[in-house]
Amino acid sequence: MEEPSDNRQKKVVAVVGGGLVGALNACFFAKRGLDVEVFESREDIRQAKVVKGRSINLALSHRGRQALKHVGMEEKIVSQGIPMHARMIHSLNGKQSPIPYGKKSQVNRLPATYKLTNHSETYPNAKLNFDHKLQDWSAEKGLMTFVRSDGTKEHIQADLIVGCDGAFSAIRKQFLRRSRFNYSQTYIPHGYMELTMPPINGEFAMKPNYLHIWPRNTFMMIALPNLDKTFTCTLFMPFDEFEKITTGDQVIEFFQKCFPDSIPLIGADALREDYFRLPAQAMVSVKCSPYHIGDKCVLMGDAAHAVVPFYGQGMNAGFEDCIVFDEIMEQFNEDLAAVLAEYSRVRVPDDHAIADLAMYNYVEMRAHVNSKWFLFRKHVDNI
Ligand code: FAD
Repeated sequence: MEEPSDNRQKKVVAVVGGGLVGALNACFFAKRGLDVEVFESREDIRQAKVVKGRSINLALSHRGRQALKHVGMEEKIVSQGIPMHARMIHSLNGKQSPIPYGKKSQVNRLPATYKLTNHSETYPNAKLNFDHKLQDWSAEKGLMTFVRSDGTKEHIQADLIVGCDGAFSAIRKQFLRRSRFNYSQTYIPHGYMELTMPPINGEFAMKPNYLHIWPRNTFMMIALPNLDKTFTCTLFMPFDEFEKITTGDQVIEFFQKCFPDSIPLIGADALREDYFRLPAQAMVSVKCSPYHIGDKCVLMGDAAHAVVPFYGQGMNAGFEDCIVFDEIMEQFNEDLAAVLAEYSRVRVPDDHAIADLAMYNYVEMRAHVNSKWFLFRKHVDNI
């Protein structure tokens, strides 16, 4: 009698991109007992300096927590964050009104990535390679070429290549050359800028445990608390409005008009300086399908579906990608041809729905008065 085929022979998985989704994915693959190598273009992010204006606080919701729980990291990540029980809406006259929502927690991108990277290293079958920028790869051979900062090149072969290299994915570029690959990207007219609200007498300047929001139709500022008792304020505004403000006095004038209660909390002098520290950042929405090529390569996280941040689900959806893929690996006994096809089949519609909801929230925000937008958000946020 013929032996049943065992697809669980030791496979080598290359995860390209060691951001939030890549680091979590490495844990999932290592936990399955596969040999996994992560290739990240930057130096070891655990030694990277936090750049002021580029911190990015993220709301971690049920989707993301489930995936973290699966690799034993839920509490470790959540304990580094701050629970958020409600939104706090700031009106023009400074009145604050809370709107409660489900179980959410604020986490900061860098420490969360550190923790997941540290955890992946505890598996003997996981190896991290920093300063490895993917330059090119072949879907036919599973062969990748990485370039290092000293100019040297390395060629690496893997059974499965997992593209977790973000919204501007180098892995995805090969997909674009193939027939029947659908792709679209949309830049929205808004940009975002981060400003810091320092502690007052060693304490938070506003109530922590809230997502503070200053909705102003076409503008919006939000503030999320950090463990060091600062708040990161993110100002979302059309690029042409950002560009109209060219002097410190104009910054103060604008804040006086739109967010007056925030000026004493951020500090007028800091505001004048921080506004010009970094240019406003662009936001892109990327949709594509399918997410795989044969039995060789699959896209996950922002590489597969960068979404605009108005629904707060980009990272959460990326984390959910990892758990869905793991479940399908189990279901199809790690038969990669079957797993990858099934993954695209089930995951593309869900991720596209999240991208649509995020864009819908963005459009709603601009088109409707504040109250309507927040009633809508209240409804969808807990999905
Ligand atoms: P990334 O974090 O972009 O990581 C990709 C990694 O790949 C990077 O480390 C990069 O260095 C590496 N890389 C790139 N190119 C190469 C290459 N050629 N070779 C090797 N490595 C490479 N999501 C939420 O869930 N909740 C929120 O509240 C939320 N708020 C947001 C607010 C803002 C302002 C923004 C911009 C985004 C927000 N998001 C939020 C989305 C979230 O930040 C992303 O979805 C998440 O970071 C995606 O993770 P990723 O690992 O897929 O990609």
